[in-house]
Amino acid sequence: LMPAARTARESIFSVMSRLAAQHGAVNLGQGFPADPPPAFLLEAARGAVGHFDQYSPPAGLPALREALGADLHVNPQDIVVTCGATEALAALALSLYGPGDEVLMLEPVYDVYLPQARLAGATPVTVPMTLDDGGWAVDVNAVQAAVTGRTRALLLNTPHNPTGKVLSAAEQRDLVALARQHDLWIISDEVYDELSFTDEPVGLRSLAPERTFTVGSAGKRLEATGWRVGWVACPAGLAPQVVGVRQLASFCAPTPLQVAGAQALPRARQEGFYAQLREKYRVRKEWMVSGLRALGVTVHEPQGTYFLTAQHPAWDALSLVREGVAVIPGEAFYDQHDCPPGLFRVAFCKSQEDLEEALARLSRLA
Ligand code: PMP
Ligand code: GLN
Repeated sequence: LMPAARTARESIFSVMSRLAAQHGAVNLGQGFPADPPPAFLLEAARGAVGHFDQYSPPAGLPALREALGADLHVNPQDIVVTCGATEALAALALSLYGPGDEVLMLEPVYDVYLPQARLAGATPVTVPMTLDDGGWAVDVNAVQAAVTGRTRALLLNTPHNPTGKVLSAAEQRDLVALARQHDLWIISDEVYDELSFTDEPVGLRSLAPERTFTVGSAGKRLEATGWRVGWVACPAGLAPQVVGVRQLASFCAPTPLQVAGAQALPRARQEGFYAQLREKYRVRKEWMVSGLRALGVTVHEPQGTYFLTAQHPAWDALSLVREGVAVIPGEAFYDQHDCPPGLFRVAFCKSQEDLEEALARLSRLA
């Protein structure tokens, strides 16, 4: 194996999409929306291709940084536009960690966090979230106990993939206090920032602007996951160092799509697009939660995102895909702790027909 291949294996999302195609399964695995992006985004892109076709600055197109700055209430100079949130997270790992460093993260954990830390030479250390009748929670004392002299950063995700958990205001406050006490960077992956169904505030940067890097994604906000436009809002003055690293991988994000994003992001806010998106997925969530519960599945109701986690003692992802429904096995989100038995993730950002067909197929197993 090439040295990096030891850490970087095929993504579970690609694996499950391939198996779904092979078995003709309804794909509730990989998280990409069935609906097209909003017309105002597509129009903006059509107007940009053919006019803005060359490189743009590695920090991002100035118009997009301005638009994001206004939207996130951040100085545009502190924003770096990347090829999706994935590149932002990779650039931060390579910028912030080195050999010997430890990075704290919570399990279940989004798949790229572990290998990205390892590619930077660092050691990911995970703390399991707890699960009880009240749903998923963070044991801040356990996080505190995992801090060592080598810990450099706390990598958080709210709303959280795969659980849909939104960090409560108290959890946010305690985690920020811990980061301050131990002088840790906070990387806050907030790609689902507009998809919270609760009133809890999302946005750790407002609590600790001096140490928080906030990661976002136009693909998630505007239902265009293939466009590869993401960003990171950095603590004041640190963006140039992140730019120095990210320009080595992709140089810049696609210029015409950044032009489209610069036009569409303010429109999405002004025209209430995010409120519509939230309502659409809240309805699908309710529908899927009650449909699965009616089949005897234990569902941990999500507070945000378009994912939910559920448990069934007799089901596993490999047999489900053969029966015609692809989901993501819970084990894919665990590395250092035991996955709760029979845990799987369902993506409900799919068409109503697909969700109904999936439930019909599952009801034959229940
Ligand atoms: N972080 C989380 C928590 C995600 O769920 C995803 C994608 N589903 C990403 C990052 C990557 O986002 P992008 O597609 O913008 O690279
Ligand atoms: N983040 C998406 C998910 O959780 C998939 C991302 C990908 O396939 N790279 O399903």
